Amino acid sequence: MNNNEFKKRGMLVVISGFSGAGKGTLMKKLMEQYDNYSLSISATTRDPRPGEVEGKDYFFVDKDRFMEMIKNDELLEYANYVGNYYGTPKAYVEAEMNKGKDVILEIEIQGALKIKAKYPDSVLIFITPPSAEELKARLIHRGTETEEIINKRLQRAAQEAVGVEGYDYILINDNLDKTTKHLNYLIQDQHRRVPQQIHFIEQLQKELRTVL
Ligand code: 5GP
Repeated sequence: MNNNEFKKRGMLVVISGFSGAGKGTLMKKLMEQYDNYSLSISATTRDPRPGEVEGKDYFFVDKDRFMEMIKNDELLEYANYVGNYYGTPKAYVEAEMNKGKDVILEIEIQGALKIKAKYPDSVLIFITPPSAEELKARLIHRGTETEEIINKRLQRAAQEAVGVEGYDYILINDNLDKTTKHLNYLIQDQHRRVPQQIHFIEQLQKELRTVL
């Protein structure tokens, strides 16, 4: 027997970080380089940015549809972020975890903490740039938001910095390739935690009793 014989349910991995921390690029790279992850696609009431694709970046819905999703219990969690709703559709996440995939949720802090309360085995990772100056520079450089929205997002970042204590890990994103590798190691290491290996350990205990 080896522990690969136990078909494991996938894990929930929550990735958060300040707007402009480079999470989007990091997620893209992680999905390109490793095939053991499924990325959850959120529903949002925010307008698409140029280049964003329906069903790939987000499911873009109006407020009525979003409210209906809440009412029908279609969302694992949802939150309001700078005036728009964002939520994680439940069905996809459950199906992928049952297939043994680790499901990545790229969500903000209120949603992350709700997930941790519902799924204590989930792992919460916070991605941050090396400094506040770097964060502002990245937001301006991205050029997708107005100055007003950039300022609101920076204000929100200051509030969120207070909630980071609720996360399990912090990754400083100072180099995309390096951070992608670290993120993969970090997630894979979670599978070695004892509660994740409980069926293997039970079987091993049984076998040890019989080899005596
Ligand atoms: P953006 O508008 O930049 O795409 O996303 C704004 C914030 O909403 C980001 O911090 C992003 O992680 C978060 N977000 C995206 N989808 C979800 C979701 O389904 N639930 C929650 N709680 N936050 C989300």
